[in-house]
Amino acid sequence: MSNEELTQRWRSALADNYGTPRLPLVRGEGTRVWDADGKEYLDFVGGIAVNALGHAHPAVVRAVGEQIASLSHVSNLFVAEPPVALAERLLQLFDRPGRVYFCNSGAEANEAAFKIGRLTGRRHMVATDGGFHGRTMGALALTGQQGKREPFHPLPGDVTHVPYGDVDALRAAVTTDTALVVVEPIQGEHGVVVPPKGYLEAAREITRATGTLLVLDEVQTGVGRCGHWFEHQAHGVEPDVVTLAKGLGGGLPLGATVVFGEAADLLKPGHHGSTFGGNPVSCAAGLAVLDTLAAEGTLDQVKRLGERLREEIEALGHPLVSHVRGAGLLLGIVLTEPLAPRVQQAAQDAGLLVNAPAPDVVRLMPPLIVGDDDVDVFLRVLPGVLDEASGERRAGE
Ligand code: PMP
Repeated sequence: MSNEELTQRWRSALADNYGTPRLPLVRGEGTRVWDADGKEYLDFVGGIAVNALGHAHPAVVRAVGEQIASLSHVSNLFVAEPPVALAERLLQLFDRPGRVYFCNSGAEANEAAFKIGRLTGRRHMVATDGGFHGRTMGALALTGQQGKREPFHPLPGDVTHVPYGDVDALRAAVTTDTALVVVEPIQGEHGVVVPPKGYLEAAREITRATGTLLVLDEVQTGVGRCGHWFEHQAHGVEPDVVTLAKGLGGGLPLGATVVFGEAADLLKPGHHGSTFGGNPVSCAAGLAVLDTLAAEGTLDQVKRLGERLREEIEALGHPLVSHVRGAGLLLGIVLTEPLAPRVQQAAQDAGLLVNAPAPDVVRLMPPLIVGDDDVDVFLRVLPGVLDEASGERRAGE
């Protein structure tokens, strides 16, 4: 099977959800993936969804294999150990008592948060411009990207979107009728947008004053991505609800809505659930992810390598690079021109996978187990990629 063959079969059999070219991949190991023609790539974007531990991590492979060989059954009639252990482990990492609702994706995790909001008896909700919370109807109602919302009006709920990072706008929008405020600690899909210092703290203060739930969507920033278990922990903020997915499942579909305090009692038996949410196999993978990240001290490495990437990319002094923003290993290279799609393509040609969430932002989200050797390769290849995307070729090439 070749790249061309797989691409043709994809085009004739699968819906094109995203309308963007897709690289036909057949294998992954660690920080590397291979396409159907056998070309190798350094994967600096797989962490977006695939997993924290890179491709085919032995701890995940073992945990999934053992679990599926012993018990993969899910039902509303039984309790298995892996979801219990994973919920206990998550609450330990939050260092607060609470309740965990497992599901299969980020959108579903936010749907549960939406339902919890409804159960407060208040109808109004506040979310942010540019925010992304998923593509199911409730999650889309919270999402602040017009193009994605437009075709689906009317969307459920009475949602006000406010400019991200603007404390005054948030304060003006939130009243004692507001059920919840939902915010990403860093807006990943919108281009790794980092709010001004003190924003999450202000959101907590504003919501506390009005008895409004603060929901933090950590689907992209959580599970070690930004150098802390959860990014809000870097700000000393205690949210009422945190939503998780992506890296949590080690490559398997797994999401979680973690609820603290009185909000944890709003959903009553019969209100919520899903067949595969909290299935033992995905939860065994999730436990392997958390165990491995903790045992290998990966979070310190995430902080160090994130800083190294930021400093060394900026130090290149390339005219196409304005600056680098983000936290840990969720980084956006902000360009001086809207050439991010060209950078993505030039990088792919050079055997490097990155993506372009905005026309002028190149996003880096490598697996968290990335090493200095991988960063060396990235930094060696990047200047040529930026030259190529700018339409220049360096002398001698
Ligand atoms: N929230 C955030 C912050 C996300 O980045 C995403 C996915 N990009 C989602 C929710 C939706 O997750 P999923 O695709 O698993 O539904």
